Amino acid sequence: MMAADSGATVLEKKDNSPKIPEKKKTKFDVVIIGAGPSGYTAGIYCSRAGYDTLILSGILPGGQLVNTTEVENYPGFEKGIMGPDLMIEMRKQTQRMGTTIIDDEVVNVDFRNSPFKILTGSEEYEGKAVIIATGANPRKLGLEGETTFAGKGVSYCATCDGPFFRNQELIVVGGGDSAVEEATFLTKFATKVHLVHRRNELRASKVMQERAFNNEKINFVWDSEIIDILGDQKMQKAIIKNIKTNEQTEVRVGGLFVAIGHEPNTKLFKNQIDLDDDGYIILKNKTDTNIEGVFAAGDVHDRTYRQAITAAGYGCMAAIDVDKYLTEKS
Ligand code: NAP
Repeated sequence: MMAADSGATVLEKKDNSPKIPEKKKTKFDVVIIGAGPSGYTAGIYCSRAGYDTLILSGILPGGQLVNTTEVENYPGFEKGIMGPDLMIEMRKQTQRMGTTIIDDEVVNVDFRNSPFKILTGSEEYEGKAVIIATGANPRKLGLEGETTFAGKGVSYCATCDGPFFRNQELIVVGGGDSAVEEATFLTKFATKVHLVHRRNELRASKVMQERAFNNEKINFVWDSEIIDILGDQKMQKAIIKNIKTNEQTEVRVGGLFVAIGHEPNTKLFKNQIDLDDDGYIILKNKTDTNIEGVFAAGDVHDRTYRQAITAAGYGCMAAIDVDKYLTEKS
């Protein structure tokens, strides 16, 4: 029986042996690169399945949601939740499941042989399986006001933020499928949507163009670009310049949606993983890439849905595929 039960005094044994610094653990069953909704979800599922799992989150963990304000469309939060708070909750949940999270940036990978090697500036990690969940970033216009009013009128996702702009006049920038689809979607809420495009014809598919041309709420502003976004606490107006005539017009709007494409974060994987012409990872079957044992999840391969909930779903799918792969391999 323990001393506490017997009432006897226990003298604490002093350990005078020299302290050997704990060796950093670098070998894992699964290494996940990226810490957005897909990376965290993959971590939760891999750890729960009993795999020793590491997430290398990058220096600014949390993905695109860290730069958003209120999230109303992620299930489980009746009153909505702020994007950064949602990511903190996901991180804590992932850690509670036993996933190791290191906020370090991956600078190189070597997927030639398994276990795969993942290098940060200071360490080399190994994983029997890898999940790439590095996401994508919306392309930016590069204006100062765009940064100042991001989340305060400037948005990169109509599905996410459209409902916050009821009964307001809005701008959408771009001429591809995303811009036309977003402009059409926003007419559900807005009084008017100005679609500002740098050329005089759209890149979007014909069927989507027709739908937009027939929508009375959409005003097409051709050969034009946004040169300034102005406001106070929130954005209030934008300056549109016609690039053929140099004429400038000030338009008072409640919001501006930038829809000029996305850039997947895949530079690291060039020449090792099959990418399409725009840099998105090409999936072979489910979530598997061209390299057996390397999987991908979320916006890094998905150019269609791009939602936090779909990214989380892909993270779950990749983790289940990893389980199958490691089980069959053992
Ligand atoms: P995208 O097809 O690359 O179109 C980007 C648009 O933004 C182009 O019109 C481009 O102008 C313009 N643009 C690019 N950089 C700009 C800048 N710095 N300033 C102003 N304008 C700029 O991108 P996307 O619309 O996001 O579509 C990406 C892919 O997803 C496409 O393959 C698309 O078909 C697909 N997608 C499909 C659907 C659907 O089927 N429902 C919906 C969304 C997206 P230019 O035309 O002059 O180059």
